[in-house]
Amino acid sequence: MLTDAPPRKANHRAGFLESDRSRTLDLPQDGCLPAISQSIESAMKAGATADVRRACAEFLTAASEFYEVPTCGIRVLSARPLRVRESWSTELFGDYTPETMLIRVWMRTAVRKEVTSFGTFLSTLCHEFCHHLDYQKFGFQDSWHTRGFYERAAVLYHYARGTPRKQLFWLPAKGGRRRIDWPRTNRSAPSSRVG
Ligand SMILES: [Zn+2]
Repeated sequence: MLTDAPPRKANHRAGFLESDRSRTLDLPQDGCLPAISQSIESAMKAGATADVRRACAEFLTAASEFYEVPTCGIRVLSARPLRVRESWSTELFGDYTPETMLIRVWMRTAVRKEVTSFGTFLSTLCHEFCHHLDYQKFGFQDSWHTRGFYERAAVLYHYARGTPRKQLFWLPAKGGRRRIDWPRTNRSAPSSRVG
């Protein structure tokens, strides 16, 4: 995981810093998202694309309701389309278009056509939904991949999957970016912080 470089435009910098600082996300307490995630997993195991799509739509509807944002659309594709948003060329498994509020996720990798694992798929769904939140809830002018963005997406993912949340550690990288320090992150005990 690598963050975006801080924007050059001065009027975007404040939003970028706010996104970077905001490291957590409120979570629903009703167990609805973990239950829907399990149905996504079963549908993926059964190879039932229509059911995967339905469960993803249910997930996004429930999450949008909780965060009080308009529901975003979902398209589940079998393989990565040839044309993807160039500005987010690092998005290997999905994308989000702010103008149409549409999330697309694909079930096979672009190069080797291998089936995307459930963990990667759910993590992508949460990542793209966090782009939706950046525009619709937090009102950022852009949805940057900041440390805060990745941490918010991880909070949602671990909650939905029912896995313990880890604290993420970051290292400086070129051009004012940050990259995740995996050895340190993996060494640290699961965080007991809630939400
Ligand atoms: Zn992204």
